[in-house]
Amino acid sequence: MSLEDKVQKIQESFGALKALGRDPTSLEFDRVTSPTEAELDGKKMILLGTNNYLGLTFDESCVAAAKGAIDQYGTGTTGSRIANGTYGLHKQLEQRVADFYGKRSAMVYSTGYTANLGSIAALAQSGDQLLIDADSHASIYDACRMSDAEVIRFRHNDPDNLAKKLERLQDRPGDKIVVTEGIYSMLGDSAPLKEIVAVKKEYGAYLMVDEAHSLGVMGAKGRGLCEQDDVEADCDFIVGTFSKSIGTVGGFCVSDHPGLDALRSISRPYMFTASLPPAVIAAAQQSFDQIDANPQLRDRLWRNARILFDGLEALGFKLGPEVSPVVAIMLPGKEVAVRFWNALMEAGVYTNIAIPPSTPNALSLLRSSISAAHTRDQIATALDVFAQVGADLDLIPANKADRRRLAEAQGPLRIVTGGNTQAKPVQAPVQEEQRSSAAKG
Ligand code: PMP
Repeated sequence: MSLEDKVQKIQESFGALKALGRDPTSLEFDRVTSPTEAELDGKKMILLGTNNYLGLTFDESCVAAAKGAIDQYGTGTTGSRIANGTYGLHKQLEQRVADFYGKRSAMVYSTGYTANLGSIAALAQSGDQLLIDADSHASIYDACRMSDAEVIRFRHNDPDNLAKKLERLQDRPGDKIVVTEGIYSMLGDSAPLKEIVAVKKEYGAYLMVDEAHSLGVMGAKGRGLCEQDDVEADCDFIVGTFSKSIGTVGGFCVSDHPGLDALRSISRPYMFTASLPPAVIAAAQQSFDQIDANPQLRDRLWRNARILFDGLEALGFKLGPEVSPVVAIMLPGKEVAVRFWNALMEAGVYTNIAIPPSTPNALSLLRSSISAAHTRDQIATALDVFAQVGADLDLIPANKADRRRLAEAQGPLRIVTGGNTQAKPVQAPVQEEQRSSAAKG
């Protein structure tokens, strides 16, 4: 196929969706004025799709630390970690991450994406077996392509299915490395880590958990789902990103394993890309201090998550299985999702759209992410907009009594897994078909 043909094919596949409104791949904010507000084409937007869970992007101490680092060290390192790109700052940040988790050592990467690529591809080598959750993030899938290990998918959040796959591998030589996430970014559901840990122990496998969406969000100290489920000692490698609750950019892998540092000389995404600039490192370090000093941020985050989730559920929308800072509305198709996303934006609410092929089970989703920095007024305004636009598009009934009936008919989905003071595990089990989405492995 010629380059022209390829370009035409790409344009055709997106053309129909672009014709319905804005192009999600080239949206430009005029200004971002706070963690929760921006301007788009001169219009004020409530930001409800940023993964800025703790609102630290504008935190005064983080901003001051970043500015100070630029003054002292300049704007960039212009080199990779193994060339001229390791400063004392990088080492300090690695120590900070290791101390935060109470682990022996950490490696810092330039993004969460490269942290997954670098850690997974370096750890899982030829003759090993990588067992990944079917709903894994693209960076985990891409890491599998980069690794020489055999790749096996297990059903999403299904420890029994993982056990079956490990059982079959029992007599095979090589390391078995299980990869899962904390909170999953599409539906906001979280991994049954206790059960997964029991399985990995039974079969002598290693476990890596990507806490991208759960760092700063879950656990009494904000260390994530491993902390909350009390399985930190059994989780061999934790990967994370600085691009969500930490409010800047970068990624890491942290572990008690004495061999982690050895990966520095074989991990290509660590070796062959420029290291993080000083301002980013200073901001990230300061964010960890803020997480330590302000547990109330997590309380506020979970309070806001609950308000948004309950509000959308009461309107009659079909949501993901758990109350979570990622709130996904399930929609009947791509076109509706695109129309909904555009109409919300026209009415002043920015969310994320997620459509096949990047979603599990070919779901069409409108995803919101909530922040500790959202005010009650902002959430109430956003819910009013959801009600209006949802009714205009015939996604929910226009009147309250019908909405209540619909919400009741859909049944309670209340599972609250996170938050310090508000965690209340409740009765309804996660529905099987939601748990096992994208069960192709
Ligand atoms: N892992 C998961 C689960 C993610 O959701 C993301 C980002 N959406 C990443 C890794 C990559 O993180 P980063 O943006 O820092 O590259």
